[in-house]
Amino acid sequence: MSIHNVAIIGLGLLGGSIGLAIRERAPDIVTTGYDADADVRKRANERGLANHIAETAAEAVCKADLVILCVPVGAMGKAAEEIADALPDNAIISDVGSSKESVAIALANALPGRTIIPAHPVAGTEQSGPDAGFPSLFAERWCILTPPEGADEQAVATLAEFWEKLGSKIEIMDAQHHDLVLAVTSHIPHLIAYTIVGTASDLEEVTRGEVIKYSAGGFRDFTRIAASDPVMWRDVFLNNKTAVLEMLGRFTEDLTALQRAIRSGDGETLHELFSRTRAIRRSIIEQGQDDERPDFGREH
Ligand code: NAP
Repeated sequence: MSIHNVAIIGLGLLGGSIGLAIRERAPDIVTTGYDADADVRKRANERGLANHIAETAAEAVCKADLVILCVPVGAMGKAAEEIADALPDNAIISDVGSSKESVAIALANALPGRTIIPAHPVAGTEQSGPDAGFPSLFAERWCILTPPEGADEQAVATLAEFWEKLGSKIEIMDAQHHDLVLAVTSHIPHLIAYTIVGTASDLEEVTRGEVIKYSAGGFRDFTRIAASDPVMWRDVFLNNKTAVLEMLGRFTEDLTALQRAIRSGDGETLHELFSRTRAIRRSIIEQGQDDERPDFGREH
């Protein structure tokens, strides 16, 4: 089974990047894009995010052998309902949502009896919209497939092959485990960034001008994450509630332990933790998941 026609529903950062990556790395595949927002469709046409831009979701999917839903996780169910009656019999339906268990349920409810293989390319930036996409977004990044129990193995292999063509490395995982792993590697870090940036902007003793002026001390690195799309992240926290709350509980305990170490002057505890975390950064660089230059390679 191979993919010839891909329908991309939602033409923001993820949908646009998929369209551009296909054009660059798999030009034999024909892409049709659709977005609920007419201005986004217009911009997608101008940027060539897909070979054709359809005016309705049904028109976009009617010839597709792979449909990828690239909308916020809270909109997945509605987007799936909109294509239900127009899908060709053998089409594979997938998505790129950042949380997987609730999306799998929403898709299964909207599209009973269909071949649904959810996926999550662990690649992104803090930008969103039709101007944000770029073709190399998925290169050397992991794409996690979360096939439901009893999923069609051929369809899983076909989807894996598709993502490999776009430059991704494939991992297969149970949806629940995915949600726990991503809670700690992505969702909690976003929550912390949103909190620290929010706290700084609410301070009265230190002015907002001072916060911005001295941001190179570390604050600005949190502001990149905290500038991420509010709709997307609202939906991630509402849809990955259980795993996020579990990981947040652990994080809060660790934070309290650090608070205690600082209060009691326990330098050994602080030094031991900071040495372990430095080693994690080294491993990320060794595995090619970030730039090894100091300060992320920023020019000074
Ligand atoms: P985005 O740039 O905001 O694009 C999403 C687009 O989908 C918007 O243009 C939105 O239009 C449109 N849309 C919403 N409901 C729709 C519907 N029913 N039918 C058609 N289009 C619809 O978001 P993104 O960053 O690409 O994120 C898309 C998905 O990828 C999310 O599920 C997110 O969790 C996941 N993801 C994101 C990242 C990241 O770093 N950003 C990384 C990995 C995965 P409106 O704005 O008018 O609603």
